[in-house]
Amino acid sequence: MYQDKERKDYLVRALSADKMIRAFALRSDNLVDEIRRTRDYSPTSLAALGRTINAALLMGDMLKNDDDLLTLQINGDGPIRQILVTSNLKGEVKGYASNPYVILEPNSNNHLNVSKAIGKGKLTVIKDYGLKEPYVSTVNLISSEVAEDITYYYAKSEQTPTACGLGVAFNHDLSIKATGGFLIQLLPNANEEDIDKLEESLKAIHSVTDILKEKDTPEELLKTVMKGFDIEFLERKEVKFKCSCSYEKGLNTIRSLGKEEILDIIKKDGQAEVDCAFCNKKYIYSKDELEKLVNEL
Ligand SMILES: [Zn+2]
Repeated sequence: MYQDKERKDYLVRALSADKMIRAFALRSDNLVDEIRRTRDYSPTSLAALGRTINAALLMGDMLKNDDDLLTLQINGDGPIRQILVTSNLKGEVKGYASNPYVILEPNSNNHLNVSKAIGKGKLTVIKDYGLKEPYVSTVNLISSEVAEDITYYYAKSEQTPTACGLGVAFNHDLSIKATGGFLIQLLPNANEEDIDKLEESLKAIHSVTDILKEKDTPEELLKTVMKGFDIEFLERKEVKFKCSCSYEKGLNTIRSLGKEEILDIIKKDGQAEVDCAFCNKKYIYSKDELEKLVNEL
């Protein structure tokens, strides 16, 4: 019945009424479907990227300033190889999977086999607060389903008990049916009663996308996941895919190749092309421009 309804992409931040639990939830159907429409992704690769994008947006909401950046990097021995996603506090995100074409048999639950597509490997979280050194932390992937790996990261690297759910569901025509996620964290003052209540509520949750197929908003998702809690919603923020690539930045990439290499490109190809890995935009640099560059070097 919700099939034809326009669903908005946004993220909410919330606190339990007793302020012992903080929570984030989002829905990102349009954002992930835009990747599908504008780029050539298989459902398995898009599910893996979509989950990571959702995680990065939820985690990015904990940054402090507008210019801070959060990066999630997943490196595995599966056919996807690498997933790289960057988000910020403004709800902007960009990301890609090294291999967008992965096709595998479904797993034993008859779901897309994201775990096998990623394989065994590592999750690296980079928080760049604009200081000299960014904060970098790497943990082993424990399930390669993304959500469990995020939970494990928070337990291991930040000693913060966290529950995370992420999902991407497709329609028969392979367009996005529902996608989003939640992140719930116990604050240091959380009491046993709250912890038990939350565990009980989470036990009843089998799939984020099952909830998102039924419910329209991140608020409803959070109310379902945190059943029995009074929730105070603090913020509502739009989320969108935003790439920061430009003609100038592409030129810098070519410049960094050095004089010899550029002369080689002129000789061999007569022009240069820089493809943005994040948004797939192509930038073409003519022979004249390349020669100008060589003269500047
Ligand atoms: Zn781009």
